[in-house]
Amino acid sequence: MANFRPVWAEIDLGALKRNYQRLQKFTDSEIMPVVKADAYGHGAVEVVGVLRKLGVKRFGVAFLEEALELRKHYRDISIMVIGPTLPEYSEILVQEEIIPEIFQVEQAEALSQAAIKLQKTARLHVKIDTGMGRIGFKDNALEDIQRIARLPGIFVEGIYTHLATADSKDLTYAFEQLRIFDDLYQKLKTKSINIPLRHAANSAAILQLPTSHYELCRPGIVLYGLLPMEHFGQEAGFEPVMSLKAKIAHLKTIYPGESVSYGRTFIAEQPTRVATLPIGYADGLRRSLSNRGDVLIKGQRAPIIGKICMDQTMVDVSKIEGVKVGDEVTLLGRDGSEVITADELAEHCDTISYEIFCGFSKRVPRIYKDS
Ligand SMILES: *Cc1c(COP(=O)(O)O)cnc(C)c1O
Repeated sequence: MANFRPVWAEIDLGALKRNYQRLQKFTDSEIMPVVKADAYGHGAVEVVGVLRKLGVKRFGVAFLEEALELRKHYRDISIMVIGPTLPEYSEILVQEEIIPEIFQVEQAEALSQAAIKLQKTARLHVKIDTGMGRIGFKDNALEDIQRIARLPGIFVEGIYTHLATADSKDLTYAFEQLRIFDDLYQKLKTKSINIPLRHAANSAAILQLPTSHYELCRPGIVLYGLLPMEHFGQEAGFEPVMSLKAKIAHLKTIYPGESVSYGRTFIAEQPTRVATLPIGYADGLRRSLSNRGDVLIKGQRAPIIGKICMDQTMVDVSKIEGVKVGDEVTLLGRDGSEVITADELAEHCDTISYEIFCGFSKRVPRIYKDS
């Protein structure tokens, strides 16, 4: 699609590379970057393209469509689906050599049948629910995994779990989850089931919980330059990879009593210079930033005034000298010494940085640069 509208997300692939290298300092285990949800909105095909060149061989996505999109571009990487895949799609998994997570015996049986039919071996990882309370083998894990390991055409390459509180200061619950995981792994061993890859660590756990690293780690958010917690990791220097930019579409002055946008939630008390930006909540600029968030123009903060509309947003530029139509505006990212982080936006919206990134819609073109 042509980009006639001056709104875009800048993706700094250099920052992504440096974040990967920073992360490597925290672990000797293999790293499987998580590129689900189009690499948290950064563009999975491009992100994988860069990390592959740094030697990454394995990537995680959330569902089969995402895996197939990557497979279309890259034949030489391992792709794992960390999320449920319906048994009826087992042949696609086997054919395209995509590694599913398995948490029901029926899924493994379907995969086994597909493998036999296609005369291939299907790799799978079993998921254990040690306390996340989402998906995974739980009460009958030992028996279920033994059954799976005996199925023909199956290679149980991995066993993994997910931690509910890896980003907390208090890691008691995380340690308890790891204890349950280790206990099961040892029991499997005594039954002669040796699974080569164990994994449990997301970004937070890679940073602050080394005992969770095992053979493989699954970082997402830190690769994109945001920390999953406030109390740890600042000094590692992870850099945000994404910025969101637009150009001013219109400028005017409004006078006392005049209002801005739906519902007249902003009414001028003094002459106010108003810039209109051609971006709105349909782009993922959250409506809860109305009368709350700021943008950056000429390295200075300009407050968002009135309700954010679907496609347009107004800001007060009265305090900034020399603003012109066409000037660049930073809605996320750095301009001079000022910066608006995804964490700042998330705080205004009562959410986490993850949801801010995933929320930038397909309408916003991603522009890649390598710094
Ligand atoms: C999303 C996800 C990750 C990555 O989490 P971050 O906090 O972004 O590092 C790791 N493992 C699983 C199972 C996930 O769903």
